[in-house]
Amino acid sequence: MNTANQSLKPVTAKINENSHIEIGGCDTVELAEKYGTPLYVFDETTIRTIARQYKDAFSKYPKVSMLYASKAFMTKAVVRILSQEGFGFDMVSGGEIYTAKTGGADMSKCLFNGNNKSIEELEMAIELGVGLISVDNFLELALLDNAAKSAGKKVDILLRVTPGIECHTHEYIQTGHLDSKFGFDLTQVDEAIELIIDEYKNLNLTGLHAHIGSQIFETSIYYDEVKVLLKEMGRIKAKYKLNLTHINLGGGLGIKYTENDCPPSIDEIAQKIISSIYDNAKKYNVDEPEIHIEPGRSIIGTSGVTLYTVGSSKQVPKGRKYVAVDGGMADNPRPSLYQAVYTAELANRPNDIPSETVTIAGRFCESGDILIKETKLPELKEGDILCFYDTGAYGYSMSSNYNRVLRPAAVLVNNGQSDIIINRETYEHLTAMDVIPERLSK
Ligand SMILES: *Cc1c(COP(=O)(O)O)cnc(C)c1O
Repeated sequence: MNTANQSLKPVTAKINENSHIEIGGCDTVELAEKYGTPLYVFDETTIRTIARQYKDAFSKYPKVSMLYASKAFMTKAVVRILSQEGFGFDMVSGGEIYTAKTGGADMSKCLFNGNNKSIEELEMAIELGVGLISVDNFLELALLDNAAKSAGKKVDILLRVTPGIECHTHEYIQTGHLDSKFGFDLTQVDEAIELIIDEYKNLNLTGLHAHIGSQIFETSIYYDEVKVLLKEMGRIKAKYKLNLTHINLGGGLGIKYTENDCPPSIDEIAQKIISSIYDNAKKYNVDEPEIHIEPGRSIIGTSGVTLYTVGSSKQVPKGRKYVAVDGGMADNPRPSLYQAVYTAELANRPNDIPSETVTIAGRFCESGDILIKETKLPELKEGDILCFYDTGAYGYSMSSNYNRVLRPAAVLVNNGQSDIIINRETYEHLTAMDVIPERLSK
């Protein structure tokens, strides 16, 4: 079965009777008029469809927890939707923990992860009852044990490890290879375990956590990852008589950003993971563990699009034609950060024949602020609305106020209804944290 991460567009996307792109039953040109642009549009049906496809794909295995990787895109409304779908949340900061809590997440289903958590964040996680903490390094073991002791609680932890698996994705989004800033090297695991057994009495080690990378297309990597973790569990069991019960496999499943991308289905990775558990649990003499799956991009990426309004254009004599839109690297840094590629269509004239090759440029003051290097589109005119697909993940969540441009609004669409889930910033918001020191007014 095809799953929604394999489609370029949200599952409800179509061309409507006005010959406009429609998403979630809403005409995107009307959305642009009503809410202004740039505008992030999230399709509730796609979010819920993918969430259910994850649950279905793993339903063959009895012990699975789904956590949504908040860093891909998190707002209180997203927390609400995915909580309703039974997901917990993988969180990497006090801000994400706060959003999960105030959005109504079941904190006992959540996990706190990250390579340099502050003492205040660790205390906050304990205080709010975050179910699991994935401990990344030796300093954190000491800090967390201390914080747990002060709170009078025993804290369930995973050890984040680097399994030494390389995947073929951009180097900035690889995380499982040995030379990575994340987690314990497998050669350091024994020292960590001995510290937990001998000294850190307030920590309860329940399992191992790994995350190999992002935008992954190779299914065999998941088989290998499970194998490495089960092998390690077997070794720990034999050496320390310690029965670990959980493995967290991270996220990373890829999505389709262009027609050339062919990511695997959720079922394909589920099948690899489950078969690796059955093969390797026996082989390494461990019980079949509870598994945690932490998708981010593959849940929210395809669910979101960005609408921009076309502005100025420039034909370089004998060169490229640049067409500028009213957003760019501040609302979507991925193209300038790691050469990410996107597909755009003309929302107000999607049936027009693509007739010219253009470069879609952002409005920010950097030559590198190019959203699409080269694409074929109908001739673009000022005021046209461009729909960028697959901008739901790592767009808003990595956005900035570069050039003091206001962050866009986000709306959630469903069955012809649209609702704001993030308000557009105002100049008052933008300057709300600015302070002019008293002495400057003299
Ligand atoms: C980023 C991250 C994820 C999610 O990755 P995606 O590629 O967005 O699915 C999951 N787990 C951990 C630990 C992460 O750091």
